[in-house]
Amino acid sequence: MKKLIQGIVDFRKNLTEESRTLFAELALGQKPDTLFIACSDSRVVPNLFASTNPGDLFVLRNIGNLVPPSTCPDHDNSASAVIEFAIFSLNVSDIIVCGHSECGAMIALAQGVDTLCCPHVQTWLKHGEESLNKAKNGVMLNPALTLHNQISQINVVQQMEHIKSYPFIRERLEQKKLRVHGWWFDIAHADVYCYEAAQNQFVLIDEAEAKLILDRSSST
Ligand SMILES: [Zn+2]
Repeated sequence: MKKLIQGIVDFRKNLTEESRTLFAELALGQKPDTLFIACSDSRVVPNLFASTNPGDLFVLRNIGNLVPPSTCPDHDNSASAVIEFAIFSLNVSDIIVCGHSECGAMIALAQGVDTLCCPHVQTWLKHGEESLNKAKNGVMLNPALTLHNQISQINVVQQMEHIKSYPFIRERLEQKKLRVHGWWFDIAHADVYCYEAAQNQFVLIDEAEAKLILDRSSST
């Protein structure tokens, strides 16, 4: 907490004229083009690893970067509300689901959620059960990874499917007004990977992969 409070004092002291102008403009409204869905984990900092500024990303964060499917009758609707708002109000063109290595939620799934002490976390993690079951049934995107990191990668692809379960998402995908991406952040190496469906694996976002993603985006 001390670091946080001192950080506010330092932020005020060091705010550049450029940043003051940016915030003054942002006060008039936000126009992010991307909805970024990530885990609540403190080590996942999209503004840092994707070098984004305030106003660039509309963000949904929760344990395990999970999105309950539209068909799930009893889910907490905060995730669906964020997706709806991003689409209908902000008209975002891209949705990114970003998982990460060493995710506590994926470790809990691998070890069995019934061992957890927290009933709300147990209930929430059921949205990751399909990912766990796929890993148990031999689905593997990268055999070199530990089990929980394999589940984490499978989970990104699974949550992309959950997003596509919303009819208004499917409609925009068909009209090519929207793209859904899967990313994975490797904490130890500070590397970001992108899911490539054609290869059914996550590919490091280096300059070549970045070009591929951008070329694909501009052609849709
Ligand atoms: Zn996590």
